[in-house]
Amino acid sequence: MALHYGQAIFEGMKAFPRAGGMGSIFRPRRCAARFNKSAARLEMPPLPADSFIMACEELVRTDITQVPVSGGQCLYLRPFMIATEASLGLRVADEYLFGIIASPLGYSADTPGGIAVWCPEDHIRAAAGGTGDAKCAGNYAASLVGKAEAARHGCEEALWLDAAEHRWLEELSAMNFFCVSRRADGTLELASPSLNGTILDGHTRDSLLRLAARQGIRTAERPVELAEVTRPDSSVVEAFACGTGVTVIPITRIVTRHGGHQIGDGRPGSLTARLRGELIAIQEGRIPDDYGWMHDVPQELTVSGRVPFAPSL
Ligand SMILES: *Cc1c(COP(=O)(O)O)cnc(C)c1O
Repeated sequence: MALHYGQAIFEGMKAFPRAGGMGSIFRPRRCAARFNKSAARLEMPPLPADSFIMACEELVRTDITQVPVSGGQCLYLRPFMIATEASLGLRVADEYLFGIIASPLGYSADTPGGIAVWCPEDHIRAAAGGTGDAKCAGNYAASLVGKAEAARHGCEEALWLDAAEHRWLEELSAMNFFCVSRRADGTLELASPSLNGTILDGHTRDSLLRLAARQGIRTAERPVELAEVTRPDSSVVEAFACGTGVTVIPITRIVTRHGGHQIGDGRPGSLTARLRGELIAIQEGRIPDDYGWMHDVPQELTVSGRVPFAPSL
């Protein structure tokens, strides 16, 4: 039934190898909660957070040994749930498969070069009341047209506008959006569009907002107008996209049907680079994890208490 009616959800997480052979997973409990939120939106059954985390731990125990500890490599985890019942009727399925696949993934602590993004006008990613804030497969099928359009305009990714007015910036197809403005008093503000039901509540987005606030930078979750970023006297000096896969990637150019707009001096920004570096340092265990984000995978399977729907291992 997943093939026809699209009851299919997923998550994305990274596990980082640690000396001694084990791994540490970035924010798995928040991931489990979001997985269940996506499940609820698609009328799929919830999976207890402890079962979700145990399954991730077991896969990390098995596969983290494939990932060198020398730095720059992690294990990307992709938990998913799909409707597997064989039926043609349009209704909520009675049978599901939960699984996790993994792949080694290389990354660099250095800031990558900036990307150009295209704001589609003829298509939208999400509308109020839709599935924009669920990590469901259909959202990504519907966003591919944006990526193809972006490529035709010389851009790497689509930066989606709101469905009603095509005036407010929302996010990319699989990454959240941030901009940095220089305020009248010379201080910086880090802003990301508010979670209004059409934007995915990213783990990276949430983490960066906290890290910036701790550094004394003013942070805001508020509506961000396209014109705020593209007008000639814009106070926006940096922009970036963020998500588990890329961590943070600078956006140096925004292209609309009215033309292209350079962000700041057209080069990756320094706050962008600093936030990226700090998050990666926490993930690699090089600086203290004051927020308790890293979840060390125990050497052995530990079952404490009753775990409903425990995966058969
Ligand atoms: C997964 C995703 C993100 C990024 O979320 P992270 O938890 O930071 O990986 C942002 N937007 C969309 C639409 C996504 O699917």
